[in-house]
Amino acid sequence: MDRSKTAFPRRPFFTPGGAKVPHRKHTASSESVIMPSPEEVIILMQQHIGAPCKPCVSAGDRVYVGTVVGDTDNYVSAPVHSSVSGTVKKIDKVTLPSGAKSDAVFIESDGQDTPDPDIKPPKADTLEEFLTAVRAAGLVGLGGAGFPAHVKLNVPKDKEIDTLIINCAECEPYITADHREMLENSWAVMSGIYAVTELLGIDRVIIGIEGNKPDAIRVMKEIADNEKYDPKDKVRVLTLKSSYPQGAEKVLIKACTGREVPAGKLPADAGCIVMNVASVAFISTYLKTGMPLVKKRLTIDGSAVKNPQNVIVPIGTPISKVMEFCGGYKEEPRKLLMGGPMMGLALIDDSLPVLKQNNAILAFGEKEARLEDESACIRCGRCVSTCPMRLMPTKLCEAVKLRDFDKMKKYQINTCMECGSCSFACPAKRHIAQTIRLGKNMLRQEQNKQKGDK
Ligand code: SF4
Ligand code: SF4
Repeated sequence: MDRSKTAFPRRPFFTPGGAKVPHRKHTASSESVIMPSPEEVIILMQQHIGAPCKPCVSAGDRVYVGTVVGDTDNYVSAPVHSSVSGTVKKIDKVTLPSGAKSDAVFIESDGQDTPDPDIKPPKADTLEEFLTAVRAAGLVGLGGAGFPAHVKLNVPKDKEIDTLIINCAECEPYITADHREMLENSWAVMSGIYAVTELLGIDRVIIGIEGNKPDAIRVMKEIADNEKYDPKDKVRVLTLKSSYPQGAEKVLIKACTGREVPAGKLPADAGCIVMNVASVAFISTYLKTGMPLVKKRLTIDGSAVKNPQNVIVPIGTPISKVMEFCGGYKEEPRKLLMGGPMMGLALIDDSLPVLKQNNAILAFGEKEARLEDESACIRCGRCVSTCPMRLMPTKLCEAVKLRDFDKMKKYQINTCMECGSCSFACPAKRHIAQTIRLGKNMLRQEQNKQKGDK
């Protein structure tokens, strides 16, 4: 790690590649709307990276807002909580967008939204107590990754962290949930930053915001410059270039610190922790109230949506109900996405519930959903120059088509973060990122097979 680069940067460091995607941030200037509790919520046991939870309630049980309904002893995991008060109707399986199945707790709301009487602000005076509290809150990366926050914040003893980066890039088109978080909840962002950095002993915090959010940059700069909110003068706002995927962890670390995270390594190996802005804001509110993660702000947009807006919804609300709250569909949706158009997951229908890590639901009509036909590669090299990881997408695609696992490894297929910049830039509309994703799955299966054969 280059320790010389520990001052606050005046401007972002150079990051290679990136695509100029259209921003389409239609909902950026409208205040978030709070959606009332639906009649039923579906709390999935798999809402994070790591081991799924097991239901710890049964049909007929009475639950409240914030009652734990699923947990596990596994460290890399996070408990899940009821987002309404009411009665558990059943435990059943739900099919995830990946095709895998997850247990889910179906809860009928009593319409009262009564908080769990046992909820109280957690004790978080030491790092150990803080990490225990963060786990109990059920916090996972709210920017879409879903990695359990207590694991991220539990830095191995041999790693030295000197920088906390707050990810406010929000580089995917359409999504404005983090933008609204900064405008509507800036005090909580700063208070969450202090909670994390004081316990972890971090003296440098960089809030990275893409330049296409001037109002958020102004608000966060004002609050970071205010002695009341930043008494130790350890927080700075850095305006990033508006280029996709500026919010990808490795790209953001490079832009904010000039450091490279080596292939296969973690941000801690570059002396950094990266947290999503909504995650730090949540920590602040949680420490004050003790209410675990039961609500989520998400952007509802796309050409098929009648009233695009940001909504704060109880986690577990069926997407169909969120869409109804936004005025319903103005045309039959041909493509439903959980997340943005570059990295979002395609949904079969709108019956799935809102998950913790959801930051957007997009619904597109016929025109936007049409998949353009591929044509022959014209060897223009745009996919190569666009790749933020400096990969050779064409070589990777050739290797995948030939099922050549050695070449997939040689060209570092697992370094691909599936950002889709190469596909976006390709004039021949080749499905490059999809092919590479397929190759990564093939390689994983092959490696598992080889392990099983031994
Ligand atoms: S999807 Fe992979 S290969 Fe394509 S630009 Fe992104 S990181 Fe590079
Ligand atoms: S961008 Fe498309 S056409 Fe150009 S080299 Fe890459 S795959 Fe071929």
